[in-house]
Amino acid sequence: MTPSRLGLLAISSVLFSATVPLLSQELNSTFARDPGQPVDRQYTDQILKYTTDPSFISPLVDYLPASKTVPTPAKVLGDISGAPDMLPYAEDVYRYFRLLEAGSPRVKVFTIGHSEEGREMIAAAIADPKLLDGAKGNDARLAQLADPRMIGLDDAKARQIVDQSWPVYYITGTIHSPETGAPTALMELAYRLAVDDAPYIKYIRSHMIVLITPVVEVDGRDRMVDIYKWHKAHPGGDWPHLLYWGHYVAHDNNRDAMAMTLELTRNVLNTYLAWHAQVLHDLHESVPFLYDNTVGDGPYNAWADPMLADEWAELGWNNVAQMQNFGMPGVFTHGDFDTWSPGYLMFLAGMHNGISRLYETFGNGGADTEKRILRPEDYSRTWYRQNPPLPVVTWSQRDNNNYEESALLSTLSYFSQNTHHFLENFYRKSKRAVEKPSLEGPAAYVIPADPADANRQIELLKVLKRQHVEIEQLSDSITSTVPAEKRGDKPKQETFPAGSIVVRMDQPYSRVADALLDRQFWAAGDPQKHPYDDTGWSFTHLFNLKVVRVLDPAILKSKMTALADPATLAGNVSGSGPVLAVANTSQVALLPLVYRLKSATIQVAEKSFDADGKHFAAGSLLIATSPGDGIAKVLHDLSLDASRLGAAPSVPVHAATAPRIAFMHTWLGTQTEGWWRYAFDTTGVPFDYISTQTVANQPDLRAKYDVIIFAPVGRSSALEILNGIPLWNNPMPWQKSELTPNLGALDSTSDIRPGLGYEGLAHLKQFVERGGLLITCEDTAQFAIDTGLAPGVSVAPQGEARVVGTVLNTVFVARDHPVAFGYGPGVPVISANGMAFNVSNTLGRTGGRVLMDPLTDPLDPYAKRATGRGSVDDSDEPQGRKITEPEPLVKQQPWEPKPLDEEQTRNNPQVIPVPERPDVILRFSDAKTLLLDGLLDKPSSIAEHAVVVNAHLGQGNVLLFGNNPVYRGETVGTYPLVFNAILNYQHLAHQSAPPGKEAPVHQALPGRDFP
Ligand SMILES: [Zn+2]
Repeated sequence: MTPSRLGLLAISSVLFSATVPLLSQELNSTFARDPGQPVDRQYTDQILKYTTDPSFISPLVDYLPASKTVPTPAKVLGDISGAPDMLPYAEDVYRYFRLLEAGSPRVKVFTIGHSEEGREMIAAAIADPKLLDGAKGNDARLAQLADPRMIGLDDAKARQIVDQSWPVYYITGTIHSPETGAPTALMELAYRLAVDDAPYIKYIRSHMIVLITPVVEVDGRDRMVDIYKWHKAHPGGDWPHLLYWGHYVAHDNNRDAMAMTLELTRNVLNTYLAWHAQVLHDLHESVPFLYDNTVGDGPYNAWADPMLADEWAELGWNNVAQMQNFGMPGVFTHGDFDTWSPGYLMFLAGMHNGISRLYETFGNGGADTEKRILRPEDYSRTWYRQNPPLPVVTWSQRDNNNYEESALLSTLSYFSQNTHHFLENFYRKSKRAVEKPSLEGPAAYVIPADPADANRQIELLKVLKRQHVEIEQLSDSITSTVPAEKRGDKPKQETFPAGSIVVRMDQPYSRVADALLDRQFWAAGDPQKHPYDDTGWSFTHLFNLKVVRVLDPAILKSKMTALADPATLAGNVSGSGPVLAVANTSQVALLPLVYRLKSATIQVAEKSFDADGKHFAAGSLLIATSPGDGIAKVLHDLSLDASRLGAAPSVPVHAATAPRIAFMHTWLGTQTEGWWRYAFDTTGVPFDYISTQTVANQPDLRAKYDVIIFAPVGRSSALEILNGIPLWNNPMPWQKSELTPNLGALDSTSDIRPGLGYEGLAHLKQFVERGGLLITCEDTAQFAIDTGLAPGVSVAPQGEARVVGTVLNTVFVARDHPVAFGYGPGVPVISANGMAFNVSNTLGRTGGRVLMDPLTDPLDPYAKRATGRGSVDDSDEPQGRKITEPEPLVKQQPWEPKPLDEEQTRNNPQVIPVPERPDVILRFSDAKTLLLDGLLDKPSSIAEHAVVVNAHLGQGNVLLFGNNPVYRGETVGTYPLVFNAILNYQHLAHQSAPPGKEAPVHQALPGRDFP
């Protein structure tokens, strides 16, 4: 698009005239224009031309004010904001904002950080120069409202500050890259705020600061623009869907507000808090025509201040009423988005005493003007949507921009008229957050000092730091009263050693710490039947930590000091001697250590041992050291404690090599596996990144790799993984080209359509049979089962069980299995939908029960006994003949395979040879203790069933996860299940394999004189 396009366009084709006075304009003086306002005629004509229906525009945006000095978005775009067939790159958007800054004293633009791929993120502050020049002083005042401890919680002082201060309203655009409209809407919005002299706009910019980040997911935006350009250059063809949005994840970038793993989340929160803003308003596009989900639906987050819910209602209903007043159809604020999980970007505000808001407008996934056919649930009239969207429309990007801008301008106007009210609320919410210990409580969370947990404690504390939560450390040991686990039980006394971590609740950001560390309960009978996202997330559980919720406020008087750097909690080396022992306590850094010390000789202890006054669990590492090898620094970097021993302990060991890992991804979806890449990158475990197409073309995978990770694709079937995308139409490249400079950085292909194929499947099978380890999870575990890579494993029928992103309790079945190294009796897992496995000693369609008649209770053979003498566990005895004892019936546990007797194994080719029978490593707890956090209903069909299984094929192994052990940066407690498997990939033979089949046991490291 060249900048001259606008001038070339004929202006005669306008659909309707801007001079026709709109009824609402006449009646509603709130948004009256300045009578002397010059109008940019040409730009205005284009607005009207691209608006497909007169009801899709408001009097707020049906003209563009003209300025002699300030350039309009057309200067950069070559056409107006929302024009068809054109999407600007992030840098074009930034160029415009910087031109705006150069042209207007009412705009300041600054960098707020960079993405994973190094692209810049910006924010623009817009207000009168008086406000911008005084922003520093204003911010110092807002800081006192944000942290009322600074003014001694004194309401009178707060009142003075409120009277002197301007609020900050932060708007963020296009976090979801296929939702393309926000950047141009925000360019034009910024121009209007800077230039328009309508009284209501003058009021906005003289009473508040509007902060705008036009592009949140900047890596994804540039790739989306590439794809759109490719689509425009190939008319009539299919174009590739957006595979990589951000570097790691796609849609889930809006689920990162808890763990804060992504740069975009950190940059937005840091900006939001640095400005002490009152609102974070995030723009999305997936619902016709404008769902202001500010009000949303229940259940509401249980840790939010109730005032927030009132603010949602106030702003949401007001905004809808304004839009109704403009005559714009399809605007509503109640809807099917529940406000339970605090994982959404906007919720950074909700959990930091601000106001979270989100618009869903209607986007076309690009700038094509399209006929859109709505579904009945979208266009039906209901109590909260009396003027629903039209069932069939011609919809343009300009329509979308009109809705976004009109709604934002009207809500900014409302906010500017009520700045005192919202600043007062901001102060009150902050104050109540500080008063939490004396109001609802708790007083604090305590993380008891424990070297075994330190590595994972540090990971949790890093999250809390990113959330700007203050963390302290006990100077002396203290004893506190802690509540009993069950209601009605007596409280207990608990002693916390010196050095224990205290997260005080008398701090401004207590709510976010409370929401992350507490437990969640979603009632099975809750009227909300469709949770929008995960129902449970307790970081206490997901990081596999002990964290104590303390109600007794006495703890706050204990001596404690601020903990500046959590990394100081670990990384210490004690003792002396040439052998370094690193205990396996299911830390995330044990596998990374092996890669960092690639040249060192490292062994894995196969049994536990005691040395240096400490207990070392099976799976601990023994490292031969020499002076000056720099190991101490590596241990410090990785937050791992270690003991120097004079001699190697007498314990069976095997060598720990650094396995060669490949991540295999599909071209169907790269998000869920992206979280795995994130975990491996950030902990420091290297891997090759290959696609199913690479595997299809690589005959000898085993020569290159020891471990292949096939992380979840996300609800894909085996057929989809094998077949890929149908080949009926045109090829769809994902690669760098002149037209698409931002594609192909992570991986590339000339055509994303072909899948793994049967050739690829054969290569994968051969890889395992030759001793490789294939790691699968959720849909890829199902794939392994469906394609015969996991003999004896099937997915347990779900029955009526209901699980929606729930944290569940588990029990290790094989505690001495290498995958369980370093763990206690169980570990909390997050389960998307309750996926569990059945295992069998035979092959068969339903987990190998083909040999048996159906039973009323398939696990209880006695349920089948016939009427007769004796008890239920007895056998009947026919009269008048000698008694023949039947073969004893074995009661099988839900996680166990059905034992086979002689009769069943005779001439039965379906029987799996013993070394190839699957091992159950981890199972769900019983129904009573299964639930930790979230929603669990009717769990009997999945309770006690296997959730992590190691299947055997040839010389190798296929590890299957029903839970996702590497998820959203939240499951640090289960990363080591994967890492243990990788580290011990050559030692995963069947548990009851006959002697000789096991991998050889090596001699432990000699105490001295090590080569
Ligand atoms: Zn979205």
